[in-house]
Amino acid sequence: MSLEAQYDPENIFAKIIRDEIPSVKIHETDAILAFMDVFPQSEGHCLVIHKQAMVTNLFDVDDNDLAALTVAVKKVARAVRDGLAPDGIRVAQFNGAPAGQTVYHLHFHIIPVYEERNLGAHASGGPADTEQLEKTATKIRAAL
Ligand code: 5GP
Repeated sequence: MSLEAQYDPENIFAKIIRDEIPSVKIHETDAILAFMDVFPQSEGHCLVIHKQAMVTNLFDVDDNDLAALTVAVKKVARAVRDGLAPDGIRVAQFNGAPAGQTVYHLHFHIIPVYEERNLGAHASGGPADTEQLEKTATKIRAAL
């Protein structure tokens, strides 16, 4: 998918926004949704998206929507820090398939890093256990 690709309303995150497929949610407002990544690279890996900005990447998003999104990223990252006590936190955002983007609805990754554990590979491996994701999400929600 190129940087100029058209937004596809049938992408997986659009379906999550419409509740057509399930997700483990952390935080939701009229504009923002934060939810657990189902192929987590570490415990607490989550994603933050704008629910109304139907855009594929950073270059297409309205500045006001981006501002709301980044404020939410900070809020959720702080809750990940306080709820899970990782040693570091990576915030990532990929544009275009060559850069590693696999879902074409703009999103930010929040990836906790634990010194004694290796990060998993990006967007691969088996899906995480939903019960385990729920347990982790509960700790993050409690710290929001
Ligand atoms: P990207 O590769 O586009 O930067 O990130 C997409 C992310 O979405 C990946 O980390 C991948 O694990 C995650 N993902 C893919 N499909 C699903 C899904 O159905 N549910 C959830 N919660 N995450 C998904």
